[in-house]
Amino acid sequence: MDADEFRKAAHAAIEEIIAFNQNIAEYPVLPAVKPGFLAPQLPKSAPEKSEPWSKIQPDIASKIVPGLTHWQSPKFMAFFPAGVTYPSMLGELYSAAFTAPAFNWLCSPACTELETVVMDWLAQAFDLPKEFLSSSPSGGGGTIQGSASEAVVTCMVAARERYLHAKCDAEGLAPDSQERDDRIAYLRGRLVALSSDQAHSSTQKGALIAGTRYRSIPAKLENQLSLQAAELEAALSQCEADGLEPYYITLTLGTTSTCAVDDFAGLAPVLKRHPNLWVHIDAAYAGAALICPELSSKYSSLMIIADSFNMNMHKWLLVNFDASCLFVQNRNHLTRALSISAAYYANKHTDSGLVTDYRDWQIPLGRRFRALKIWFVMRSYGLEGMQKHIRNSVRIGEVFADLVRGRCDLFELVTEPSFGLTCFRIKPSILGSGGAAETDADFIPQTAADQQVEQEANAVTKHIGDLINERGEVFLTCSSSACKSFIRVVSGN
Ligand code: PLP
Repeated sequence: MDADEFRKAAHAAIEEIIAFNQNIAEYPVLPAVKPGFLAPQLPKSAPEKSEPWSKIQPDIASKIVPGLTHWQSPKFMAFFPAGVTYPSMLGELYSAAFTAPAFNWLCSPACTELETVVMDWLAQAFDLPKEFLSSSPSGGGGTIQGSASEAVVTCMVAARERYLHAKCDAEGLAPDSQERDDRIAYLRGRLVALSSDQAHSSTQKGALIAGTRYRSIPAKLENQLSLQAAELEAALSQCEADGLEPYYITLTLGTTSTCAVDDFAGLAPVLKRHPNLWVHIDAAYAGAALICPELSSKYSSLMIIADSFNMNMHKWLLVNFDASCLFVQNRNHLTRALSISAAYYANKHTDSGLVTDYRDWQIPLGRRFRALKIWFVMRSYGLEGMQKHIRNSVRIGEVFADLVRGRCDLFELVTEPSFGLTCFRIKPSILGSGGAAETDADFIPQTAADQQVEQEANAVTKHIGDLINERGEVFLTCSSSACKSFIRVVSGN
């Protein structure tokens, strides 16, 4: 494809994308295809001869679009949103044009420096403690990763190394000694990562990858499924009794199932007594809400308890997948754990210590130019436009929650609606005469009859969720927490 062909093809593609976007509500939100639908429509092997764009483009509408789940559809109320906007698409286009696996500053200085600038813009827009800024005396800063899961495992590795080396230093073991290596190998088997049982599965997976143990701490329904100090203290004592050493914990601002928020203020004194425990705050979805001062004033200053904080622009903040923003109070913990030098990376700018080489802040070597799309979105919308988007979603969520409350003869809210997410279920009392009648959603069934009614409510709720999805008018997710099944409706689209 030469420049003239590209011009024609790109114009045609852009027109098709605009038409697709404008008509998105007309498409079925879930595709009707069966597993294995695509391969029979395509040749068994790649074409020997070049094909013109005029032959390739029609396959988008005929073969690909029918197999898409439309995450941008207003009928999509499942999981969490995955938004995209025109400025963000333009960022992707330029990023593709300037492709560079910019692992070192030298590999594309603008790529590195724009990332530092937009991460500082975001930290300020979220009103995060100044320790997370690249100019902070603590050595803070932000970096863009592919996903929240990647951010978790990256921080876990940094936490593990920080914990092990601090312990070996305290024991007076010489750096790079055999004795130290042996001690580290022994201690690793005792390390345990923690989170509440409501935290995203990425913490458990991260521990698996980091080669340490993992324990979850039950969060109580009577506390809105938020992790509290008493439960954390009990878990830490149990670890000690079992000879385990907690080195990392994920706290969550907006859990996946119900958007619960852990009790950061109440947990702070407990965490202070464990200075070697790395605290990561996972705000993958709800972190976007911190763009609004009325919400950041409730949460942002509390983020000071965290060594690291992560939010996904690619969920609720107008930037397309992938753009996961990780902020740390001390970048040296990342670079000490993840920096491997090799002769082919050496250059005078790295040696000068004056530049950032983001390869040392992450697991992969190469990295995409993701800062462009964040930069375009922040400039095109302005903070005001971004705030308007969040407030609008929260308002729609409140309208929906009020509709559920208005049918309290049929439904009950499982937890208070939070950040545009409403979780509700069939009221057990309408299903039978068990003891669950006339109870609150945080009722814990004691008798066999209560339990049976609860189980029926779970089964009926799940059945209703499945029926709604089968009808295809909207797509939503069922989940369960604290033995209660419920339907989640998210308004972020
Ligand atoms: N953390 C939370 C709270 C989430 O809800 C999710 C996904 O929905 C994740 C982490 C994982 O996000 P990612 O796909 O960016 O790894």
